[in-house]
Amino acid sequence: MSKIVDEVMTANAEYVSSFGDKGNLAMPPARHFAILTCMDARLDPAKYAGLAEGDAHVIRNAGGRASDDAIRSLVISYKLLGTKEWFVVHHTDCGMETFTNDVMGDLLASSLKTSTVDASGWHDSGNGEGTTDGKFIQWLTISNLAQSVVDDVKRIRNSPMVPQEIPIYGYVYDCKTGKLNEVAEATAAGRPS
Ligand code: ZN
Repeated sequence: MSKIVDEVMTANAEYVSSFGDKGNLAMPPARHFAILTCMDARLDPAKYAGLAEGDAHVIRNAGGRASDDAIRSLVISYKLLGTKEWFVVHHTDCGMETFTNDVMGDLLASSLKTSTVDASGWHDSGNGEGTTDGKFIQWLTISNLAQSVVDDVKRIRNSPMVPQEIPIYGYVYDCKTGKLNEVAEATAAGRPS
């Protein structure tokens, strides 16, 4: 068995031993809100936002972007499970700021090995077969952090499937301090109307 699988199963056994009455939790989030945030390993929404099991929906992807699939989850979150307030949380030092669609397309075309990054950007070993499929994908990279929060809040706000009464708040998580800093323009754009 892989060392990681072993570690995860050991941790899970400990979790199960102290699971308590969490088996009685209801499916709808008890605190009626959702967070869309980045998959970055340094971010732990349960800790930075004070969540316990059953409290809130957390939707994660690369960048915490308002992709079609993120919106799919948010719509399910309110329409079927009753959330009433949403947060979009991007963060400092996001990997999505380090490349563009063209760079990712080229890296994948070069090989499927893990690329490396240095001060001059991303490099690929070119060692092995690649694919041009990556050139057909919108990777939703970030060139301006605050603007990306504004853009995502606006995209969610403007979805015809999202009711106007749900407030959408925009924040940037600071990886150096753990602090959530509001992007006022985003929260303003996400204000209920
Ligand atoms: Zn990120």
